[in-house]
Amino acid sequence: MAFDSLSEKLQNVFKNLRSKGRLTEDDVKTALKEVKMALLEADVNFRVVKKFVKDVQERAIGQDVMSGLNPGQMVIKIVNEEMVKLMGSETTEIAFRPGKELTVIMMVGLQGAGKTTTTAKIAGKLKTKGKKTLLAACDVYRPAAIEQLQINGEKQGVEVFAMGNKNKPADIAKAAVEHAKKEDCNVLIIDTAGRLHVDEEMMDELVEIKEAVDVFQTILVVDAMTGQDAVNVASTFNDKIGIDGVVLTKLDGDTRGGAALSIRAVTGKPILYAGMGEKLSDLEQFYPDRMASRILG
Ligand code: GDP
Repeated sequence: MAFDSLSEKLQNVFKNLRSKGRLTEDDVKTALKEVKMALLEADVNFRVVKKFVKDVQERAIGQDVMSGLNPGQMVIKIVNEEMVKLMGSETTEIAFRPGKELTVIMMVGLQGAGKTTTTAKIAGKLKTKGKKTLLAACDVYRPAAIEQLQINGEKQGVEVFAMGNKNKPADIAKAAVEHAKKEDCNVLIIDTAGRLHVDEEMMDELVEIKEAVDVFQTILVVDAMTGQDAVNVASTFNDKIGIDGVVLTKLDGDTRGGAALSIRAVTGKPILYAGMGEKLSDLEQFYPDRMASRILG
């Protein structure tokens, strides 16, 4: 399961803390050094770890932890609170245009991250919220991407707009907007092409789509299993095209935790959803507090 190794290490640190009646400043520092190691081994971004440990230490040593009734518990509580803060504190939802205006969402990410699957998963979520959604197949490069979206759209009972792979993605997106308006849709989700690595051509194409249609939300899909790479990808996408939120996929695997704990802190953008499996129902709202509880055990 995800975070197993990190959870186990943190729990050991906490067990030591709890077993002490009184805590000296050195006890806290030693414990936090172990927390730091555990986070680094979980592939959390180095700068994020450094700031996290500093923040916890300042609070733990600065306040009345030492004279508190149960100092160990107090430190654990501070670690928990800072971890929730790291992931953004509040749950963030996808934003929509007011009233009946069409909200255009563009899905971006590297190939294999789970973009096409997540597009269909989100369409299902929006359907249960009563939003009429259209999906647009703008991944014209990956063989079978269009068909995959069509199959998944059908499973979700959501229409898919496709024009084959001979047209430019920006033109398909424009035509999809017209179609969505004609059909009185509330939301249009554009599935775009990914590459194996971030490259200029991909970014240019995404910028072109953004310029062609009025994209309201750009959502990046990243694979949690790739750890710090996912964080670097998020930074690059945010710098080049601007993102509004992130979906972290494959959190059902044995990911170490680095991406979940670093993305918000590094990019300033919230994690909206967590992908928890291959099935179209396996998408969960991201709750920073629940995620911290899961990590801390
Ligand atoms: P794309 O290239 O980004 O569009 O990626 P796909 O949507 O085709 O997904 C790539 C693979 O990852 C597929 O086999 C998906 O079933 C799988 N996948 C997507 N999201 C998740 C997830 O949250 N958990 C797991 N275990 N697999 C996922």
